[in-house]
Amino acid sequence: MELVFATGNKGKLREASEILGNAFHLLSPACLGHFDEPEETGLTMRENALIKAEHLWNAAGKNCFADDSGLEVDALGGAPGVYSARYAGEDKDFRHNIEKVLCELSKVPPQAGRKARFRCVIALIYGGERCFFEGTLEGKIALAPAGEGGFGYDPIFIPDGSSKTLAEIPEDEKNAISHRFHALAAMREKLLDIAGSEI
Ligand code: IMP
Repeated sequence: MELVFATGNKGKLREASEILGNAFHLLSPACLGHFDEPEETGLTMRENALIKAEHLWNAAGKNCFADDSGLEVDALGGAPGVYSARYAGEDKDFRHNIEKVLCELSKVPPQAGRKARFRCVIALIYGGERCFFEGTLEGKIALAPAGEGGFGYDPIFIPDGSSKTLAEIPEDEKNAISHRFHALAAMREKLLDIAGSEI
């Protein structure tokens, strides 16, 4: 089954190909000559994922999906959430975003706890029909950053059942439990069902 993953991120494309497996042939928008990305103006991850998938569907008319993800900290009312990439400001990097999460958490009473999760939402457009899939990874926010691996908020996120941050564990271990893994696995099930009923 051929599908376009509406992302410019080669790492995500590689990870998704591995998770979806041989039954799927994933293409990037660039393979089809589409390089522009839409503005992520949605107020939720679901809206942003749909904006990205619809942009590609309207441009190429091909079955496609897009994802949007972020970190939700309970004691911060779910922030940074949909604003995860730009929590400390548009021109700031991951270090600043991490500093802001730790600083905001230091202002709330300790009994509010440090519970958090990564969430990934996928919007799939298949034959014009829209479907959504979600995956989460539950955990807590560390007291200080640790580890050199991963990206984004990985140095301050400790998954449930672990004593290490995501930046301290090997990439393949993270990919086997991640929010993206769970969302992609749910989409894979649905697509295999569709493929089965089309044969
Ligand atoms: P995107 O929508 O998947 O591009 O992710 C938006 C933002 O969420 C990223 O810029 C990161 O700040 C954060 N994020 C998403 N997934 C992860 C992850 O697996 N580790 C760390 N940060 C993440």
